[in-house]
Amino acid sequence: KLYSIVCSLIYNPVTLTDDTMLLRVAVIGAGAAGLVALRQLSASPQIFDPVGYEMTDNVSGTWVYTEMTGMDKHGLPIHSSMYKHLRTNLPKETMAFPDFPFPKDLPSFIHHTDVRKYLEDYATHFNLYQYIKFNTKVVKISPIKRDKEPLLWDVVTCGVLKGDSSRTSHQFDAVIVCNGHYSVPLIPELPGLADFEGMIMHSHNYRIPEVFKDKVVAILGAGSSGQDMALDIAPFAKHVYLLHNKERLVTVLPSNISQGPGIVSVLRNGLILKDGSEIQTNSLLFCTGYRYEFSFLGSNCRLNIANERVTPLYKHIIHTKYPTLSIIGLCKQICPFPQFHCQVLFVLAALAGKMVLPSQEEMEKDIEEDFRWRTEEEGMPPRYAHTMGTLQWDYNNELAKLAGFEPVPRVVESLYDYVHKHRVKNLPHYKKARFELKNNEEFLELIP
Ligand code: FAD
Repeated sequence: KLYSIVCSLIYNPVTLTDDTMLLRVAVIGAGAAGLVALRQLSASPQIFDPVGYEMTDNVSGTWVYTEMTGMDKHGLPIHSSMYKHLRTNLPKETMAFPDFPFPKDLPSFIHHTDVRKYLEDYATHFNLYQYIKFNTKVVKISPIKRDKEPLLWDVVTCGVLKGDSSRTSHQFDAVIVCNGHYSVPLIPELPGLADFEGMIMHSHNYRIPEVFKDKVVAILGAGSSGQDMALDIAPFAKHVYLLHNKERLVTVLPSNISQGPGIVSVLRNGLILKDGSEIQTNSLLFCTGYRYEFSFLGSNCRLNIANERVTPLYKHIIHTKYPTLSIIGLCKQICPFPQFHCQVLFVLAALAGKMVLPSQEEMEKDIEEDFRWRTEEEGMPPRYAHTMGTLQWDYNNELAKLAGFEPVPRVVESLYDYVHKHRVKNLPHYKKARFELKNNEEFLELIP
């Protein structure tokens, strides 16, 4: 071995220089986004040297169900927002990473334990565990500016296990933040809320429906969580009010679920709604979403969060002032795993120099144009800055085109759209359907 090292030094000094030229990349979090980042980084060992940091002791992030709420055994806030009976609201055929299908024998709408197992299998299949430092929380990230040299990142980590609270500083060429965005509850300010005498809960802490046995439950918010939880709770509750400011859902619903407009104010035992009506309730469940949380990014990272908008991120991903800092998974109302796959490949193309990013000024212009178009032309509220819905397919394709990778197969879009249309008409039963992908364009509906 020594002989070959000496030879390579004499005859091929570039070989050794190449090794030292590897880009050290820190990946924060080992949920779906962090795993796909590690999988793609490790696929180019001649370019990247990845290290993953995960504050819990396992992969899969939010899919690791726990009955606990509040703090975990190490005093960390519980990260997962899974509840006991959750089955996916997307069919597994659309959820999969393009290079790793779910097992064929599973139904289309699967239990959360199957998603966790899928992510663990993904990590095993692509040998990702070797890169991950578990029980290690990233507490601070700061840029280190160097004269005429590319910027470095200082990543400070802290052990979370008892007796291991040591802080360590590590240096990286790039950082990919994959910390998840469904952990810090967003609760609207409502007059009178502090005086409400009933039970108040956010969907982050919802685990089992039995806690609402015989209660009159008001759920605020009718996104996926609000709809699913209303159906989960209805068999136990006396009545469920599904309150929201969208158009009324036109679907069959159990007889003890009724819809109503949003809340104006909270009374001690009830609510005043936007249409002026008053309802009596003894439980209030907020399905009002989550806040973006990046407290570990120091103020010198120059990331702004205001009104659920994170700036300045080119294509919702790459920091325009520090293009070696990127965030995966910010966008809402998406098919997450395929989009994470696209976002990661986009970042890697930029880091590897396969894609040349526009100038900082051009990237910032692009961000503002996207925001202007959303808010002025499409009439979206400013807090919808990262909301995708039907925009996600063009967005994913644009990333693929810019970075030069295979786009997500079109069948993912057509099946996603098909399910979306049927779901809103038949909320209680749409998860009984079963699909199979025929090819990259078409799917079969095996059980309608
Ligand atoms: P997470 O899974 O949250 O992972 C983030 C990881 O980062 C965690 O492991 C966390 O411990 C770690 N971390 C955070 N901060 C730090 C730090 N400072 N240092 C170290 N580690 C850190 N998607 C679907 O495709 N289909 C569905 O049916 C579906 N249903 C959902 C239902 C619920 C209730 C929720 C909450 C989400 C659902 N999703 C669904 C969306 C889901 O969030 C995404 O699919 C995806 O799993 C998100 O992955 P992530 O890696 O971005 O975040």
